[in-house]
Amino acid sequence: MKTLASHLAGAWTLGDGPAIPLVNPTTEDPLAWAHGRGLDLGGALRFARERGGPALRAASFAERGALCAALAKAIHGAREELIALAVANGGNTRGDAKFDIDGAAGTLAHYGELAARLGAARLLPDGEAVQIGRTARLVGQHAWAPRPGVAVVINAFNFPAWGLAEKLACALVAGMPVLCKPATATALVTHRLVEIWAAAAILPAGALQLLVGPAGDLVDHLRAPDVLAFTGSSETARALRGHPRVIAENVRCNVEADSLNAAVLAPDVELSSEAGQLFLADVARDMTQKSGQKCTAIRRVLVPAARLDDVAAALRERLAAIVVGDPAREEVRMGPLATAAQAQDVRAGIARLAAVTRDGFGGAGDVNPVGVAAGKGFFVGPVLRLTDDAGGCVAMHAHEVFGPVTTVGAYDGEPHAAAAVVALGRGGLVASCYSDDRDWLARFVGDAAGWNGRVYIGSEKIAAMSPGPGTALPQLQHGGPGRAGDGAELGGARGLALYMQRVALQGDASLLKALTS
Ligand code: NAP
Repeated sequence: MKTLASHLAGAWTLGDGPAIPLVNPTTEDPLAWAHGRGLDLGGALRFARERGGPALRAASFAERGALCAALAKAIHGAREELIALAVANGGNTRGDAKFDIDGAAGTLAHYGELAARLGAARLLPDGEAVQIGRTARLVGQHAWAPRPGVAVVINAFNFPAWGLAEKLACALVAGMPVLCKPATATALVTHRLVEIWAAAAILPAGALQLLVGPAGDLVDHLRAPDVLAFTGSSETARALRGHPRVIAENVRCNVEADSLNAAVLAPDVELSSEAGQLFLADVARDMTQKSGQKCTAIRRVLVPAARLDDVAAALRERLAAIVVGDPAREEVRMGPLATAAQAQDVRAGIARLAAVTRDGFGGAGDVNPVGVAAGKGFFVGPVLRLTDDAGGCVAMHAHEVFGPVTTVGAYDGEPHAAAAVVALGRGGLVASCYSDDRDWLARFVGDAAGWNGRVYIGSEKIAAMSPGPGTALPQLQHGGPGRAGDGAELGGARGLALYMQRVALQGDASLLKALTS
């Protein structure tokens, strides 16, 4: 069985200490080992700062974009192999795996094109120059410059390809080298990606390093211009934000954490209409895609009281058609959760909700997975909980259950009331609303926007072409306030800001123009 090496300071390096197994969550068989101790992480960060950073900063935006385009192309070349790894190590169906792997390639390709448009410049202008002298000769111009440090990228278990690519693409285009640390349990896909990229010698030395296994003393070696870009649980985020080194050195820290994403059905939408069908399809997809292990998945559904029974019946029908089992089988639509610990957490979350809601579908999540040996695998079936009082159901808004679990609650149909219930989640990555009533939408969006990083408006006009609220697109910001971590990633050129320093330049107008164009 393979022992996964880390790629540090230009070489594949094995750690020591206890072996951590990476298992197949369908069979529970071990697939590989990780050893996280005994690695020179301080040396790896120095290597990034001394080799990777200068090489990237010497390149123009267009040249860095070409690197991203080449990384994307290499993913296409190894797509089937990566999909097979995601099925084995992540419990992904083929569709789930494509979502992650094609999402990674698409994001890198998007930033490749964006950087090509930024051209030969090395500083990115921010707004127009402003006259600050007696005449127009003396101006001030804000601009973005690469941060002369290293971006440490720590990712969650659920998107080993896309989660890395969204951070890597922005950092590389911005001109910052990356040291990435995937979640240990599902690190096989990230490890293989880095192997493929390293073998193809696409990036300059030190531009991308990989740590497999626990973070060890990694954070102790961070310093001022570095960036810590984290995706994972609020608990780990709190520990990292409060890390003495992060505080002492004012390390820039971006957090993408938990989110109780809400979907709101407005009273004007009939379930049989295009907007109504879109709403049902989005909820059912988000509950079951990647077994509900998507940070953007819909966890709370608000429907006018008179529609609660109809919505529950329609979702029940869709969920009953989902075949749960071995994700390698063609007929299976939902695989296991990624780890035993996740399955345990999800079952505890279902029990908390069950104490205050009634069963809509799936009971406690017990399921007989197709094609799986009895008693094996980390399976939890889709679970729908119901409440007649969405606003009064505290548990529905308090805990993110990171699995195929959603609560549908009734509200009074009024847009301000709906937005107030959405806000009980204390900040989300995305809220979705479904209506063709512009007045209702204007009032809902006005109130809900400040609590969410993205607001998705499902309506008849876009129903046929909508990717759903659960898809994070490189063109649009990913991140949200409050519970969601208050971070921001992606969003086209906005995504570069995390890895760049805004600087105000003052001087001769023609000189500043030449420097920033
Ligand atoms: P997690 O337990 O917080 O782990 C996330 C990452 O942090 C892993 O790579 C983990 O490494 C690492 N880590 C843990 N303790 C650390 C420490 N003390 N210092 C440095 N790194 C440390 O979260 P998870 O279980 O993988 O992910 C599930 C959570 O992620 C969910 O709550 C979900 O909402 C959130 N999530 C958010 C987004 C988003 O974009 N907002 C996206 C995906 C997931 P090890 O695996 O080695 O422990």
